[in-house]
Amino acid sequence: MGNRLFGVVGRLAMAAGVLCVPAASFAKDVVVHAGRLIDGVSAQPRERVSILIHDGVIQEVTGGYLAPAGYEVVDLTGKTVLPGLIDCHVHLSINFEAPIINYLVKTPPTDQLVTGISNSRALLERGFTSARDVSGYTPVVVSLKKAINANKVMGPRLWVSGGMIAPTGGHGDMSMGLDPALHKPEWDDNVVSGPENAIELARSRHKAGADLVKIAISGGMASDGDDPRAMLMTDDEIKAFVDTAHALGMKVAAHAHGKTSVEHAAALGVDSIEHGTFADAETFKLMKAKGTWFVPTLQAGFDLGNLAAAHPEMLSESGRQKITTLGRLTGQNVLTAYRMGVRIAFGTDTRPGQNAHEFVLLAKAGIPPMAAIQMATLHAAELIGAPDKVGSIQPGRFGDLIATTGDPLADISVLEHVEFVMKGGDIVKQ
Ligand SMILES: [Zn+2]
Ligand SMILES: [Zn+2]
Repeated sequence: MGNRLFGVVGRLAMAAGVLCVPAASFAKDVVVHAGRLIDGVSAQPRERVSILIHDGVIQEVTGGYLAPAGYEVVDLTGKTVLPGLIDCHVHLSINFEAPIINYLVKTPPTDQLVTGISNSRALLERGFTSARDVSGYTPVVVSLKKAINANKVMGPRLWVSGGMIAPTGGHGDMSMGLDPALHKPEWDDNVVSGPENAIELARSRHKAGADLVKIAISGGMASDGDDPRAMLMTDDEIKAFVDTAHALGMKVAAHAHGKTSVEHAAALGVDSIEHGTFADAETFKLMKAKGTWFVPTLQAGFDLGNLAAAHPEMLSESGRQKITTLGRLTGQNVLTAYRMGVRIAFGTDTRPGQNAHEFVLLAKAGIPPMAAIQMATLHAAELIGAPDKVGSIQPGRFGDLIATTGDPLADISVLEHVEFVMKGGDIVKQ
């Protein structure tokens, strides 16, 4: 069943991709003249810089405007150039316009893939040239990643987890709150019961082509009937996921709101905490000691707060109550974590188009603009495990870059409207 479905969605990806392949299949040699360069690594911007890109990969970054023979000049002398942005928490195959459970019940995997193709293009055009997809039906998001890598579909470079795995009745158990007769067979693959089962699920994600494993340790906010402050997964299960995933070269991302769930995840070697809503200074001390990444997703809290106020009918009664009583995710814990030296990577948990608003929320929380930019470039690449390929403008990295006329260090909201996007040396938007 799984293989047959995989074949169907794979062929659909190829068919749909024909309509939106970038003009150049093989990148030309280009030299980008950057009026100002924020390279993702340096603490200060540089002025008047040339970025030489050969076969889609950055070859050299040097002062002054060079025009070597055979290189096409891309004139960004009036702009600030930055590395392509990275969102470490997206769900590209999910349509956020509908209540998620309605979407999942009514949408077959083939249509989920079409949603993913459309969202991928939208995200890339907003300046996100890489992303980590941390839950979607496994064969769908793996097909999407392959189609993008093969240049058949326009989108960011993807690292995907496949379906998020939750304990029975937890955040991610899609049957929760439904008539038991309403059930999709693939949902069983997202529910864990015991460490032996955790080992099998982590291995099956690897076999299916996922790059990381996503687990839901605490309950969620919008989901029906689970408690975000409660730790729902056992230590044995978490440890089995971590050990198995790490042995296979995969990282583990954990959805965790409650303080206890975040601390257990960090102590057991989980690589990144998603949300971390109720983490405090004690939690962050442990995360810093363990080197655990924090992906705050302030935009998710912002979106849910707005949704509960404007469209309560889009939420279940329990979801609406949790959001209104537990409040919007606060920026305060991000600032605490930042000041304590916790590693923070940019992630949003939102629909394409809203992603860069996370920068505005980080700024409101008190994060300096350059630090926020590095969370979405260098540090995001480190969390993903590919700082040698993406996240900075240095020799050896892909020619993934964006540009804006405004000054993001003075007003970071200009990143919500980037004017120029290049991926692998190909101009995507200008
Ligand atoms: Zn989550
Ligand atoms: Zn999420």
